[in-house]
Amino acid sequence: MTIYPFAKPGRGFVYPDYDAKYPPSYDYRIKHYKLSLWLDIDDRSINGEAEIDLEITNEQTRWVSFDGMELVVDSVSGRPEVKDWRYDGNKLHIQVADKHPKLLIKYHAKPRKGLYFILPSRAHPNRAPQVWSQGETEHNRYWMPILDHPSIKCTFELIAYVPRGYTVISNGELLSVNNDDKWSVWHWRLDKPCSPYLFSVVVGVFDEIKEMYGKVKLGYYVPRGWKDKAHLSFSKTAKILEFYSNYLDYPYPYSKYDQVVVHEFIFGGMENVTATTLTDLTLHDEKAHMDYSSDPLVAHEAAHQWFGDLVTCKDWSHIWLNESMATLLENLFVRHDKGEQEFIYELIRDMDDYLNEYRDRYARPIVMRIYKYSNELFDSHSYPKGGLILNMLRSLLGEETFRKGLNKFLKKFEYGVADTEDFRKTMEEVSGKNLEWFFEQFFYNSGHPALKVEEEWKDESKKLLIRIKQVQGDDSLNTYILPLKIHIKIGETIKEHTIDLNEREAVYVFDLDARPDYVCVDPFFEVFKTIEYQRTAEQWAKILLSDKHVYCKVLAARALGSIGDLRAVEALSQAMLKDDFWGVAAEAAKALGEARTEIAREALLSALSSIKHPKVRRAICDALGNYRDDKVCDALKKVLAEVDESYYVRQSAAISLGKMRREEVYEYLLKFINEPSHNYAITIGVLRGLAEIGDERCLKTILEHSYEDKPTIVRSAAIMSLGKFPGRREVIKVLQDYSRDENYRVRQAVVAACKELMAPEVIPILEKMAENDLMEMVRRSARDAAEKIRKNLEKGVEYKALRDEIERIREENRRLVERISLLGRVPEHKG
Ligand SMILES: [Zn+2]
Repeated sequence: MTIYPFAKPGRGFVYPDYDAKYPPSYDYRIKHYKLSLWLDIDDRSINGEAEIDLEITNEQTRWVSFDGMELVVDSVSGRPEVKDWRYDGNKLHIQVADKHPKLLIKYHAKPRKGLYFILPSRAHPNRAPQVWSQGETEHNRYWMPILDHPSIKCTFELIAYVPRGYTVISNGELLSVNNDDKWSVWHWRLDKPCSPYLFSVVVGVFDEIKEMYGKVKLGYYVPRGWKDKAHLSFSKTAKILEFYSNYLDYPYPYSKYDQVVVHEFIFGGMENVTATTLTDLTLHDEKAHMDYSSDPLVAHEAAHQWFGDLVTCKDWSHIWLNESMATLLENLFVRHDKGEQEFIYELIRDMDDYLNEYRDRYARPIVMRIYKYSNELFDSHSYPKGGLILNMLRSLLGEETFRKGLNKFLKKFEYGVADTEDFRKTMEEVSGKNLEWFFEQFFYNSGHPALKVEEEWKDESKKLLIRIKQVQGDDSLNTYILPLKIHIKIGETIKEHTIDLNEREAVYVFDLDARPDYVCVDPFFEVFKTIEYQRTAEQWAKILLSDKHVYCKVLAARALGSIGDLRAVEALSQAMLKDDFWGVAAEAAKALGEARTEIAREALLSALSSIKHPKVRRAICDALGNYRDDKVCDALKKVLAEVDESYYVRQSAAISLGKMRREEVYEYLLKFINEPSHNYAITIGVLRGLAEIGDERCLKTILEHSYEDKPTIVRSAAIMSLGKFPGRREVIKVLQDYSRDENYRVRQAVVAACKELMAPEVIPILEKMAENDLMEMVRRSARDAAEKIRKNLEKGVEYKALRDEIERIREENRRLVERISLLGRVPEHKG
């Protein structure tokens, strides 16, 4: 038994009505599940016949139960004949006669979720219909009676009857396609055991592209008309599978791998065994390819074929075993494909994502039993935080040992399930190390270490003192054990030291030959933590401009952005222009936006004419949104009008133009509202820009783009923008209407807008959604938003007013700092 002398259960994740969920025990197992499915696409309905090959594992068992939500069960029969059955709307109970019953369940349904019918709409009148399933977490039970838990593993067979002209994609091998007068009959079979949430069916009219990776058949299915662009999204698939096969020393486990692109998908992608489903938002043209890539999504879902599909988490509380692992592997592919700098920058942005969730919403242990909906666990704790912790484990054990551990884990649990302890023990076996301290700190407790570093140089004794304090708050452990590398830079040499921090505060003394230039703690960002230093702009500038490590340079850029004095701006400008990695250049640009000084603005403006990298240009345009004058306005207008710019650079320009809050900008932005672009990036940029201007005309245009005749992604952006229109009754009314919209993304946008409005009037809307929404994730985010608004109101905070006030003070402060630093350094910077 694990003892928690200092357990940190988190903050803000658990509501009073939540309780612990434990994995169920089953006295029977499914050996094989065969589903015949007739799809009436226009009617959005199905008829099904499930043949279930069952084995009773407990002599005493007479009744078996299956999950099945909102089905109409027509009959249950079997061999031997079933004695009795009853269905209560969410469970089907069957009395069986012997140990190896073969059951036949006939049913029909009009699924509200789990199986989605995408028919032509006002926005897309000519789109060919599609049907696709989304099982994870517990939604396949809405279209088939099944034991719907990840701990179940069985083989699966699907015979789908669809109107002629449609293609059906499912798990495993396609055995046959037969056409009669009425139906096209597609027979798929997966011979490897798999968890039911990974069963999949997709029906549609597709262009197909086939290729081989060794003996594995690869298939890419895209909506008609996308065939010649599909390679932009999928050309790296074979390279990705090969990389994982080598890295894990475990070949791709199945005989084929299909990726199917569908409309209106509710996630980015879903790793159904051998048949990944992906959102059509990932398709793009050559111009979008300048700064948009499907590789991370493709790599993430492919990684799941090992972690998630081959080995599945035993229970949702261990979902990190699927998601953190896929996040890390996706990042390791980035390293393999694009190099170390891109990899480290991915880690840094993962940290940003986690910290956003931690600061804005909640902290929880990664392994979490207390929840209401299993979907709630799919958050920035399960993905980026867990990925960073696994990366830390990789550094701690060494890459070779870590890889051996992953390989052993896969071999031990292949086609089965595993939990966190299984993983820990496997890693302990291969490394010979005890890892309880590590798992306890990072998987079983909430929060993270927050370090504060102070340096002191003793010139007489030539000693460097480094004081490291752990300053993390109450939702994190009081003291973490952290192995840390320290780089001390003196001239051209770097001295590397390793320390084991295990106190709340510790001082390390180093004897050196000369005064060091600077010190970097954890230069490779191997340790999961935040870090702060007491440093001057001069010291940070030296790091930004001369260090080799992306992590150190990004910390420097961010620190310099908040210092914002002349030296800071000068260093940032130089890094923006000269750094060989776009990530550092983009961070420098962003920091110049934060600095909000005239010199910073000039630097950004002039960089716009020399810097070509679209991701840096995007950061520059974003940063210029913090400045309001004619020159900035003209420059942004030029960018928005330039057809050779990337779509996303133009989007940023449109948003920043809106932030100028000028009358004339309205007309200008409007000229580009129908500009063709990837995923309506420019249209959305214009809408967001209009929201920044915030007047009546803007509101009218935004509302027009929220209507049903617009594509989902545009509607969502328009509705989210309503959050920028406080105190208007018509906005509240519209949000109320859209809170019942059929489209899940629209309802999510309503929650986001309400959250931004922070007004008491939206609380009833949110409360209703928290209670009734069809999708669990919407219920949760609506509840969080309502809670947050209520708390703010209690504090008597006029949220928006406060925010504006802070903004104003910050700006004044920057100007002051700049003036002072200018005075101090006039001779150097006159010309
Ligand atoms: Zn995933």
